[in-house]
Amino acid sequence: MNLDDFMGGLVRRNPGQEEFHQAVREVVASVIPYANQYPKYERARILERMTEPDRIIIFRVCWADRDGNVRVNRGYRVQFNNAIGPYKGGLRFDRTVSLSILKFLGFEQTFKNSLTTLPMGSAKGGSDFNPRGKTDVEVMNFCQAFMTELSRYIGKDVDIPAGDIGVGAREISYLFGQYKRLSGEFAGILTGKGLSFGGSPVRIEATGYGCVYFAEEMLSTRGESLEGKRCAVSGAGNVAMYAACKLAAAGAKVVTLSDRGGFLHSPGGFTEEQLAHAMDYKASRRGDLAGLADEVAAEHHPDGKPWAVPCDIAFPCATQNELTQRDARRLLKNGCQAVCEGANMPSTNPAADAFRKAGILYGPGKAANAGGVATSGLEMTQNAMHLTWSREDVDRRLREIMASIHAQCVEHGQDGDGVDYVKGANIAGFIKVADAMLAHGMV
Ligand code: NDP
Repeated sequence: MNLDDFMGGLVRRNPGQEEFHQAVREVVASVIPYANQYPKYERARILERMTEPDRIIIFRVCWADRDGNVRVNRGYRVQFNNAIGPYKGGLRFDRTVSLSILKFLGFEQTFKNSLTTLPMGSAKGGSDFNPRGKTDVEVMNFCQAFMTELSRYIGKDVDIPAGDIGVGAREISYLFGQYKRLSGEFAGILTGKGLSFGGSPVRIEATGYGCVYFAEEMLSTRGESLEGKRCAVSGAGNVAMYAACKLAAAGAKVVTLSDRGGFLHSPGGFTEEQLAHAMDYKASRRGDLAGLADEVAAEHHPDGKPWAVPCDIAFPCATQNELTQRDARRLLKNGCQAVCEGANMPSTNPAADAFRKAGILYGPGKAANAGGVATSGLEMTQNAMHLTWSREDVDRRLREIMASIHAQCVEHGQDGDGVDYVKGANIAGFIKVADAMLAHGMV
């Protein structure tokens, strides 16, 4: 099998879905040379099957705004692959949501979930609904309308959604409440739930914490630690803030945070108190980071990205394609030694290639941010057992899972003297799903 022929066919079948093409190209570039050694994969057309979702559900979401006007949005659920477990993946509410974005995220989720060592298939969903500027009642109206349709397609052993951009604790709670009302049952059909109704300790922190644990694993291969390292973090949402807090607690200096309005720069590093304050400020939806600059003694740069700031490690934790080739060159020029992705596909493919070519430590999102879905898997286990583990227990399991993901990347990503984490994550994630699909026959 040849990369260009494969991609030619994929692009023809999925016209205009650029993010999906990008995600597939990144994966198959490392998987094809591996799969070509085993004719069983080509005979069963495993890669063609893995790049075609099991099904895509698209539906109308009709809700009333604060003035009683009828609003119409589009809802989606892409059920990508359930070869190794029930469909699992987040919901995104953002005006940029499209089929291409959700297919890229669902495809990435296949490999990520496989790496977690837990039995979870892959999915992604969401809507072009924009929660920014909406009242709580509007968000509730939307969530109830969205779940009324989605509820037909999910279930605790079928498909278990979670949060993502624009879907946090508030939205998960409204979605859960509506499912419970419609079905009459209290079931673990969502993860990221509140602690008082079946949520897991550490789930909210897990993606950010897991990303930092992965960075520690990567650094340890070079005899390094986080202590004193200047870390440029992008984003100021769930992933970014918990990554930033964990970094500060580990002795690193978090020098940036960002949002859609620009970025904050604190050359000496934000204190843990300043980070806790920033988290409260963003969580209470008081405004953009610009309004916080004086309170946390930082400079605000409107409309910029943090990648020109000198740093030792970059943690892109906002959104896809936020770090371009130009940004990568700047980071490398300024001596950046590692990039650890909290977001999904935050680096464009040319940016990722620049990091790999430079031989710095580069942890791709599907490995480095898998702690979130892994802890969702632990939430599902607790729900099935009707109990709640302690915070220490869940955090210890999260650390172990991140260490195991790192070990799988090292095993399959050997490249000269170093480790190519992209290759390692893609091949390790592929083997488990592909072998399960082979075992199931032509389904
Ligand atoms: P949130 O909605 O909590 O936060 C997203 C943050 O990124 C916000 O600060 C937002 O800015 C910023 N942002 C979003 N889009 C843009 C943009 N186009 N330009 C600049 N800044 C932007 O989302 P999460 O933290 O949950 O998710 C962040 C990333 O992590 C996503 O890629 C997601 O897929 C990935 N991820 C999330 C997981 C989770 O458990 N939540 C699990 C694994 C991956 P503003 O505050 O202005 O809105």
